[in-house]
Amino acid sequence: MAKPEGTSEAKSANRTEKKKGPRHDHGSRDSHSHSHSHKDSEGQRNHSHSHASGGHSHAPIVEDTSSLRLWLGIIINVLFAGAELAAGFWTDSLALLADAGHNFSDVMGLVLALIAVHLGKQAASERFTYGKGRASIQISLLNSVVLLAAAGAIAVEALQRLQEPADVPGMTIVYIAALGVLVNGISTALYWQDRKEDLNMRGAFLHMAADALVSLSVVVGGLAMQWTGAYWIDPALSILVAGVIVWSTVQLLWNALKLSLDAVPESIDPGEVRNYLQGLEGVMDVHDLHIWAMSTRKSALSVHLVVDSLERSPALLKEIKARVKSEFGIAHPTVQIEQNDEDCPQC
Ligand SMILES: [Zn+2]
Ligand SMILES: [Zn+2]
Repeated sequence: MAKPEGTSEAKSANRTEKKKGPRHDHGSRDSHSHSHSHKDSEGQRNHSHSHASGGHSHAPIVEDTSSLRLWLGIIINVLFAGAELAAGFWTDSLALLADAGHNFSDVMGLVLALIAVHLGKQAASERFTYGKGRASIQISLLNSVVLLAAAGAIAVEALQRLQEPADVPGMTIVYIAALGVLVNGISTALYWQDRKEDLNMRGAFLHMAADALVSLSVVVGGLAMQWTGAYWIDPALSILVAGVIVWSTVQLLWNALKLSLDAVPESIDPGEVRNYLQGLEGVMDVHDLHIWAMSTRKSALSVHLVVDSLERSPALLKEIKARVKSEFGIAHPTVQIEQNDEDCPQC
């Protein structure tokens, strides 16, 4: 019977700890869950202000402007990709068609990122207890797979065209690609401040930067075709486009795969977390340590701690909650306190 006792002790300790925090009187379930998550993100003081809505996020200002920038990116890219597609058909340039297809897939990626930001803002419900933030990880996966398929299609078409290069007007390609340098340059600037924020935004930033370089090389290639009449440059450029898509996608895919397998997020060193927990006063053993991503922005931790005395529970829980947030950026720790190894026979 040792285990249930230990567990309920830890739970009641947790309840005691919560009561020490500022008191709120909330009528509805909704506003209660809001104040709780707010407390997670900002610590336990400064709670005299009131909250207008239930949709809390850990960095509301950043998320709001990042979705605004995503919208801007979508509009600019749709306009440009449309122009590029028309010019591609008109000139029969595979380089332009490939880049137009690629820009349309960029738009789809931005739309998916926007959906991820939106879903990440939705509060947890009784059924979706984590909220829907994890959709951002699945969206990264889906986006990567679609991009790799598009790259494959472009490469196949380019290899066929290399055998019989089509006669394409170099200067038209130069003008359109120069516009592409401008559009992608603006988009890159839009995502500059988000590049370290989040997996999807980082993906968007890297992508736009690579695209600006691709457009620049198409400008150079178009000039070369105009001067030399070497039309094989056109399919060769589209292979470059395909290569850039693969390059920018592989790392995104790899990170998304790791997160989807509940790997510890890159920004957190699990050894450091374990050392920190083991070093706490009164902690005899640390086991069942799990750290995982709840979304591309939020992380959670669960752990069992064997302590020398259950009296320590309230102080330990308070200390751990504050430190894992401030030091490791883990917003949702869950700690099971145990008196001795018999509390937890399966561990
Ligand atoms: Zn792109
Ligand atoms: Zn245990």
